[in-house]
Amino acid sequence: MAANIEGNIFTISVPLPGNPLRNLNSYVIRSEGRGRNLLIDTGFRMQPCREALIGGLGELGIDMRDTDIFLTHQHADHSGLAMELAGENSKVYISRRDGEMLINILTKGLGRTEEYRTFGFSEEELASFWENPSVKYQQDVPAVFTHVGDGEVLNYGGHRLEVIATPGHTPGHLCLYDRANKIMFLGDHVLFDITPNITTWPGFDDPLGHYVHSLMDISIFDVRLPLPAHRGVKGTMAERIGTIIEHHGARIREMLDALEANPGITPYDLSGKMTWRVHGRTNSWADFPLAQKWFAVGETAAHLEYLLCRGRVRREFDGRVWHYYIG
Ligand SMILES: [Zn+2]
Repeated sequence: MAANIEGNIFTISVPLPGNPLRNLNSYVIRSEGRGRNLLIDTGFRMQPCREALIGGLGELGIDMRDTDIFLTHQHADHSGLAMELAGENSKVYISRRDGEMLINILTKGLGRTEEYRTFGFSEEELASFWENPSVKYQQDVPAVFTHVGDGEVLNYGGHRLEVIATPGHTPGHLCLYDRANKIMFLGDHVLFDITPNITTWPGFDDPLGHYVHSLMDISIFDVRLPLPAHRGVKGTMAERIGTIIEHHGARIREMLDALEANPGITPYDLSGKMTWRVHGRTNSWADFPLAQKWFAVGETAAHLEYLLCRGRVRREFDGRVWHYYIG
């Protein structure tokens, strides 16, 4: 279902079945004249997403032949339907970094199983990695992207949209800022009632450090209307940025305590010592769904990398898995 936000900006709620994120907010900037429309983020390449998005576009009278697509980042719940929805002349914008990573994942099958093995996942768990929705519902190849980067400007429906690089949630995450109207399309950089997942990436050091830096970067913009890619908005963006930074600080302190008590622990086992909230309740590690374990352990690994970069922890490799120690 499509809903008006203000002026010619609309949102289409795309369900993400079985996913704790619940839905994706796709945004549409509709051009009232002869100009092109912009669709921001698309949903998983699965039928319930496809139906909702195509239905919403229909309600808004959007013809994809007159529409370009902006992907805030490479994740499948944002990019999954992009290529199949794009019209012949549609541009599909994404950062160079995320676009290239995505094509590598799609064409070379570059999964992350090798990396996840070093975190302590069992072979049995690794065998079902490809069932992970973030892999399974990714878009099809061939994907052809138009790369955009920090400082570039896109003009759609009378809105001048500045591209802002916000590396952290993914290495090439982008936000769009409409300075005249004080609107920011946030992707997954700032979410309001869940904390954006921060995980490790091959070739992208210190993701949590980058993420916090990128939060500081956008906090200098005047934002009246923040538009996150999942769920709604509560409070101001400045308040939310403060809360997210505090959350990571608390997480790091919890982690340091657990490391102190369990020298030599693996990222996987350390994740089991942390508190997690999934579907609005605190979960024990034993009944934690595997689909969420990839995210949870990745998040732990990102925090460990943050501490490693700052000399607060050290690690040893036993030939298969990393073991972490204080100091
Ligand atoms: Zn994401």
